Amino acid sequence: MKNLKSLSLIFSFILTTTLYSQSHSHISAQKKISYPDIDGYQTLSSDLHIHTVFSDGNVWPTIRVQEALLEDLDVIAMTEHLEYQPHQKDLPHPDRNRSYEIALKEAASHNLIVIPGSEITRSAPVGHNNAIFISDANPLLDKEDPKTSFNEAKKQGAFVFWNHPAWYRQSSKGIPIFSDFQQKMIQQGKLHGVEVINEGAYSEEAFALALEEGLTVLGNSDVHDLIGWDYLDKHQTHRPITLIFSKDKELKSIKEALFEGRTVAVFNNFWVGKEEFVIPLLKNSLSVENPHYLDQSEVLELTLINHSSSDLLLENQMPYSFYFNPRVFTVPAMGSITLQIKTLEQLERIELKFKALKAYTAPKDQAVVSWEVTVD
Ligand code: ZN
Repeated sequence: MKNLKSLSLIFSFILTTTLYSQSHSHISAQKKISYPDIDGYQTLSSDLHIHTVFSDGNVWPTIRVQEALLEDLDVIAMTEHLEYQPHQKDLPHPDRNRSYEIALKEAASHNLIVIPGSEITRSAPVGHNNAIFISDANPLLDKEDPKTSFNEAKKQGAFVFWNHPAWYRQSSKGIPIFSDFQQKMIQQGKLHGVEVINEGAYSEEAFALALEEGLTVLGNSDVHDLIGWDYLDKHQTHRPITLIFSKDKELKSIKEALFEGRTVAVFNNFWVGKEEFVIPLLKNSLSVENPHYLDQSEVLELTLINHSSSDLLLENQMPYSFYFNPRVFTVPAMGSITLQIKTLEQLERIELKFKALKAYTAPKDQAVVSWEVTVD
C-alpha cells in the first residue's frame, strides 16, 4: 500500500514536470512577436503605455527595455504619470524626462525605438491621456488645468491618446463617457487616438468611438509590474500591442503613421482595427502550400500557413465543405493546418475564402479574406 502510494506520487511528479516543461517550452518558442509587413509599409510592433518606478510602476526603466527586447518589440513609449508620484519620497525626481532618458540609453545598442511620453492624469471626464513624441515632459505638468497640459502637448507636436476610456473606476458602467472635453480636444486637434485595448480589457464602445471620430486605434499594456508575470505566465500570451504600419523604422515615420491612423490593436489572438489595415495584415499572414487532389478524387488537399504570432480562428466561407475539419478551425501562430476541400469536381483554380472570427473591423464585423490559388 505504502509502495503503491509512493509510486503514484513519483508518477504524478513525472507527469507534472512533463506538463510543466511542455507548456514552458511553448511559451519560450512563442516569446518573439512577429507580424508580416503589408504593401507599402513595415509592420512595427509597439507598446505605447508603460510605467516604471518613476511614477507608480515597480521596476527600473532598463527592465522595460529588456522586456521589450525579449518579445522582439520594435517600439515602446515611456509614459509616466506626470502628477501621480507614489515613490516620490524614496525617489525624488524634479525632471520628468528621466525615465525616458534611462530607457533610451539602455536601448541605444539595440534595435528598439524608445519614444518620449507622459501620462496626463485626471479624474473623469478628462481621464488619463498619453502624450507621446514630446520634446520635454516638464512643461506638461500642470496640476490645475488639464487644458494647459494638452496645449503644451500640441505645442510640442505630440500625438495624444485617451487611455482606457472604459475603465470602471472612472465610468462605473464600463462604457466610455465621451464628454464635451474630448469633443473639444478632437476639434482643436489635441486628441488623436484612443486605447481600445488596455491591459486585458477590450472596449467595443471605444472601438466604435474611434471609427466615428476618426481616432487612431491603440492597444497597450499599461504595465506596472513585470511583463513576464502579468502576461506570459498569468495568461500564457503576449502583452497587448499596437501594430504600426510605417514607411520605415524612423521616429518621424512612426509618428506620421500614428497621426494617419495606420494601426491594428492586438491581444490574445484577437485583432481590432480599420478594415483597410486588418485585411492586408490577414492576407499576408496566410499562405498556401502544395494544393493537389488526393489520388483520383475530387478532394483537394492544401496546407494553410500562418505567418503571424496570433492563432487565427477561421470560418470556411467557400461553397464547399471540408473532409476532416469542421467549418471553424484554428491555424496556430507560426504554424499550419492541412485542409481537405470537397470541390465536387477537379478544379484548376479555386478561390479560398475565410472569415477571421477574431479579427474585428467594426464592433460587430469580422474580416473576410479571399484569394485565388492554382492547383498543382
Ligand atoms: Zn497608465
